Amino acid sequence: MAFALETLVKILRTERDQNCQNTAVADGLGNYIEGWVELAKQQARRPEQYAMAVEVGDVLADYDAIDDDTVRLEKVNYVLDRLHFRKPLPAEYEKYLEEAAGVLGASGSPLPQPKSSDDNRRRDDNKQSTRPPESPKRSEPARSEETVQAKSIQEDEPELESVPQVDVDVSSLPKLARPPRRSRENASFEGMIEQLKSLENPVTIVKGIGPSKAKIFEKLDIHTIRDMLYYMPRRYDDYTQLSYISRLQPGEVATVIGSVVHKQVRLAAGGRKDFFTVIDDGTAKLSVTFFGQDFLIRSIRQGQQIVLSGKVSAFRNTLQMTNPEWESVDSDNLHTIGIVPVYPLAEGVKGRSFRRDMKRVIDEWADRVPDYIPEATLERAELSDIGWALANIHFPEGYDHLNHAQRRLVFDELLLLQLAVLRNRRDWQSLPGQALTVTDDFIEGFISSVFPYELTGAQRRSVDDIRRDVTQSVPMNRLIQGDVGSGKTAVAMVTMAMALANGKQAALMAPTSILAEQHYRGMSDAFQRMPGDQKPVIALLTGSLSQSERESIYRGLADGSIDIVIGTHALIQSGVEFHDLAIAVVDEQHRFGVEQRGALRGKGTNPHMLVMTATPIPRTLALTLYADLDLSIIDEKPPGRQPVQTKVLYPVARERTYQFIEKQIEQGRQAFIIHPLVEASDKIEARSAVEAYDELKKVFYKYRVCLLHGRMSPTEKDDIMAAFANHEYDIMVTTSVAEVGVDVPNASVILIEGANRFGLAQLHQFRGRVGRGEHQSFCLLIADSETPESQERLAAMETTTDGFLLAEIDWKQRGAGDLLGTRQSGQQALQLAEAMTPDLVVLAQQEARTIYEEDPYLQNEQHRLLAKQIGILYNDEGDIS
Ligand code: ADP
Ligand code: MG
Repeated sequence: MAFALETLVKILRTERDQNCQNTAVADGLGNYIEGWVELAKQQARRPEQYAMAVEVGDVLADYDAIDDDTVRLEKVNYVLDRLHFRKPLPAEYEKYLEEAAGVLGASGSPLPQPKSSDDNRRRDDNKQSTRPPESPKRSEPARSEETVQAKSIQEDEPELESVPQVDVDVSSLPKLARPPRRSRENASFEGMIEQLKSLENPVTIVKGIGPSKAKIFEKLDIHTIRDMLYYMPRRYDDYTQLSYISRLQPGEVATVIGSVVHKQVRLAAGGRKDFFTVIDDGTAKLSVTFFGQDFLIRSIRQGQQIVLSGKVSAFRNTLQMTNPEWESVDSDNLHTIGIVPVYPLAEGVKGRSFRRDMKRVIDEWADRVPDYIPEATLERAELSDIGWALANIHFPEGYDHLNHAQRRLVFDELLLLQLAVLRNRRDWQSLPGQALTVTDDFIEGFISSVFPYELTGAQRRSVDDIRRDVTQSVPMNRLIQGDVGSGKTAVAMVTMAMALANGKQAALMAPTSILAEQHYRGMSDAFQRMPGDQKPVIALLTGSLSQSERESIYRGLADGSIDIVIGTHALIQSGVEFHDLAIAVVDEQHRFGVEQRGALRGKGTNPHMLVMTATPIPRTLALTLYADLDLSIIDEKPPGRQPVQTKVLYPVARERTYQFIEKQIEQGRQAFIIHPLVEASDKIEARSAVEAYDELKKVFYKYRVCLLHGRMSPTEKDDIMAAFANHEYDIMVTTSVAEVGVDVPNASVILIEGANRFGLAQLHQFRGRVGRGEHQSFCLLIADSETPESQERLAAMETTTDGFLLAEIDWKQRGAGDLLGTRQSGQQALQLAEAMTPDLVVLAQQEARTIYEEDPYLQNEQHRLLAKQIGILYNDEGDIS
């Protein structure tokens, strides 16, 4: 809907800027709007957009006839708000949501089934960004400007029929209604197992991948053929539209074919040697420079036909491309024609050569991957076979192909994960636990003497759930989800007290020492208020203790003289042994790896486990990911909080924002400034954070500014956070690290740059860093893209502080990638989280349950390969909860 919407926003802004006296606009608007409504309805992707179009049409229908400028202005402002979804849909238009659902059909879902009526729109979309249409991947914000231009050019231009000199038909990509599936009649189980095992061969068995290349691939965590097959592209570039050189426009991303009419090496400043060439396609000439790639003089011949893809720019009145992708026309056009995969790479790995290696692996191996999902399941879920999916996720023949491939692979990830998790749950529950005795009196006595407040209803419900669990002889395995500040710590304390009531021990593990120390201080005070004469002995165990301190704690834990221990990873070191650990709590669980949680559990004899997270994950998704955990949700905040005021700002307002921050600091407050991860590489992330820090130090030269980023060591991070919490600094510049639940009640403002690059759930997490004290707090969001979509998305932050709602919105719009943070979870099995949409999750859930109920040990013939595959991915003893 971007196009119609954008145009109207522009018109209305002009109108508003002229105080609605722009008669040229005004007099045409009434006429214009009728056509606009039709266009906007056609372009709508979601029912809300459709209904909004109808409503806006009605609101503006009589616009021309209004004389009063203020009434006009009111209307304009209202419509602008509606266009950005800053105001809700009026009730009387809700009926259009239903109408829309019927009209939009499957195209409302992120991985649509192919539909011929989509073709035109699809083509626009292809031009518009470098990603497949409607795939929930985030678009490249930096390209938004040029793409608008590219699109309008496309619309004015007649179709190109063919390209002179070269006989390559790439004008349209193939379409595909149903994903193909091979028959498996001849496959024997033994043969398939052999095939499955052969995927564990090292990559060096592929021609062209020698030991030195393999060494470099290790940086990407690629060792085996399987690793390579499942190494997913980060995004796709679309080079399917060929252009004539004479029609190129600066700013456009285009593909051209021509012959080399000139070539030379040029010496650039600083001694760099550039390769310079001129290409002619019969319509015009194009200058092309490859910086620092003088070696190309040897690989590109005079007169050779080459395909070039890249961004067009104008330099001294001639059109040029710099560092385009290029390919000789007679080769297989892997890099330049069609949908080209772009992989996350490490230093020393070149995109072109990696793609070529990948192509070889796919050609040789994809069809040899035996299909481990039962045919009946594939049939029901309408999925392709695995070999086809792997081939098409890497080198899609068309967008339909890519969609089907993504569907299949995402489904696999979900199904396998779910089956593995269900298996864990089964194993886990078969272990005997310790049933604790917890009386009403104890609970009530504890709560009323320890907390200076009443528990909220949601906290109470969680406590009840936990109490029910721990009084059983099956060990508890429960997840508490509650927004930042919802009071999870209090619930953890009541839980730990249940161990004390039974003369047993409790442990709490936090992801950083600063958090552990915060918990230690708070709980040391609180537990002293417990009723009775016997006060529990509480210890803090972190990595920074001296040898003798540590050993004394080890002794206390082993002989039972310490009742409660609070700590970091230090808790799961080999020297730690408990006398009788009955309750283990893990705070901010998403920060811990699977093994670490398992290790804590292993410190006791099947202790009751409580894991807590502030990451709100929609319930359906949580039930899949944590199918082995029982779920309690704290969906209510303690009373009397001042909600954080949130504002989405344009980059031009940055100066004012800085002044605002200064004012807060003058009042004794502190501020966070968050910079987005620009690339999926720690190194680059660190560099951009350092640059931002240098810049901001100049801006805020009067104040104390500190920096925190992902490349720092855990101790460095802890030190900085502790210093900030102590108010030794006024401003913390950081990347996403500040997500960890540090408590700095004095911080009252958080500024988030490039806010459009973050998921809403993550923004919400950031926002939770402020508003933890008595001060009115502020969250300021600056986007580096002004597309209506990103404005609309961010506007949701202004209107709600409900983390679950934001997570839902995120999930529907962008898949689960942002919610899960693949980088954090480190589970290769969830590589495709971005494409994990609600419909697929539900589908995989149904299938997993069906398979599990029918054959829990996966022993039937048609499930044995599946069992093997799960074993490989989640190694058999693995605990993946
Ligand atoms: P989180 O869920 O983010 O871990 P905390 O447990 O740190 O939240 O609680 C945030 C703040 O709310 C703490 O200062 C805590 O004392 C306070 N708090 C917790 N529960 C209540 C309650 N029921 N009433 C009032 N304040 C509460
Ligand atoms: Mg907490």
